[in-house]
Amino acid sequence: MGIATINPATGETVKTFEPLTDEALEQKLDRADRAFKPYRRTMMAQRSRWLRTAADILERDRQKLGETITLEMGKPVQSAIAEVNKCALVCRYYADNAAEFLADKPVATDASFSYVSYQPLGIVLAVMPWNFPLWQVFRFAAPALMAGNVGLLKHASNVPQCALAIENVLTEAGFPAGAFQTLLIGASQVAKVVADDRVRAATLTGSEHAGMSLAACAGKSLKKTVLELGGSDPFIVMDSANLEAAVNTAVTARMLNNGQSCIAAKRFIVRDSIAEEFQKRLLAKFKDLVIGDPMSENTDIGPLATSSIRDELHEQVKACRVEGAEVLIGGELLDRPGYFYPPTIITDLPASTSIAKEEFFGPVALLFRVSSIDDAIELANDTPFGLGASAWTTVEAEQQQFIDQLEAGAVFINGMVKSDPRLPFGGIKKSGYGRELGIQGIHEFVNIKTIWLGN
Ligand code: NAP
Repeated sequence: MGIATINPATGETVKTFEPLTDEALEQKLDRADRAFKPYRRTMMAQRSRWLRTAADILERDRQKLGETITLEMGKPVQSAIAEVNKCALVCRYYADNAAEFLADKPVATDASFSYVSYQPLGIVLAVMPWNFPLWQVFRFAAPALMAGNVGLLKHASNVPQCALAIENVLTEAGFPAGAFQTLLIGASQVAKVVADDRVRAATLTGSEHAGMSLAACAGKSLKKTVLELGGSDPFIVMDSANLEAAVNTAVTARMLNNGQSCIAAKRFIVRDSIAEEFQKRLLAKFKDLVIGDPMSENTDIGPLATSSIRDELHEQVKACRVEGAEVLIGGELLDRPGYFYPPTIITDLPASTSIAKEEFFGPVALLFRVSSIDDAIELANDTPFGLGASAWTTVEAEQQQFIDQLEAGAVFINGMVKSDPRLPFGGIKKSGYGRELGIQGIHEFVNIKTIWLGN
């Protein structure tokens, strides 16, 4: 696929972009390299001011930016605007806290004085996905820029206007030329950038396949990477749970972003004693969801981002049928333009099948029944992924068991898995490694330097 804005609600190609030539790419790399030395010497207070200005610009332009997101990847416009607001939040969070997070940390040793100092690495490449096209980038850029690094963005090929808008926001905010640049390049050009000696580290948010490919390139040239990859998050409901709250949250947790979120609840694992009732209520709520124009405020579910994502999801649903699963609602392609897929519920899928362990990136819920907490945890962990997990129970001992035994980067008890600038975010197993957000996120791309002063 070339670099283009294709409206997923209609399938129409709105605008195409030429990828950077080798020469133009070299100019951008050179610019980033020349920007780094003066940028790393800028005062932290100055960087904070630029980042706060970026937050103001994001809020000022939230409608326009939100519409650009919706145009390019199809999420309902209200969610897109909320995403822009969240970007402002992460900018302010790091503007307020980076100085403390990166302050020298004295350590008592036999030196006359010793401490840990956090210094920038240089150029960091971010390879980003289309599903939260602004949020994924700002949650990388805010800490990286505060730490004194300079950023290069290779965004997904279907969100070029979002990619360019991000660079514009940061430039208008006052960041010096070259401190943050968008590279309009295809995936095949990433290896060259990673291998370039001027680039010191890379982060990728996206699929397992892309993550492995980037990590392999980075490994060859010994570069630090952070990988935020896929997930097949469990949403476990025990019999003591507040069922109304669990069902309401289940719908949001599965349908947010038209179902295309790495931390969406994808497998609903319910205690058999309440499973019938949970299923009935979930089905009723799925039936009520409004599918339609994502630019309309009344729409719950817009189109999937690309035709291939819709087609892959449909193939997965068909594979579930082949395994003997029942499709309670949805599961058929819609007879309308655009890449829409209906809310779908699948039951009776044998948990041991390979399809049950895959990530379903769209509005498809898999329902499983279990007869004990041990079975729930075993099933929840029976996936290559380990991003988030949500468990619903009011029994304290069960809560603790979930916290201790669920294999995931985050466990939310009686709540929906979500990202929050104040809390670290990331996964284990095939969901990747490293963390974004919180103090941990800003420490990923710094030289943690030991300083030892003799007598
Ligand atoms: P994707 O196809 O892996 O694309 C992500 C980014 O990687 C895009 O910029 C893409 O560029 C690039 N890319 C693809 N193949 C590459 C390769 N071989 N080498 C270097 N770069 C490559 O993923 P997606 O379909 O956009 O996003 C969906 C996936 O991302 C899901 O699995 C989802 O769970 C995951 N995700 C994870 C998180 C998290 O925080 N853990 C957050 C959001 C999404 P092109 O567009 O040019 O191909």
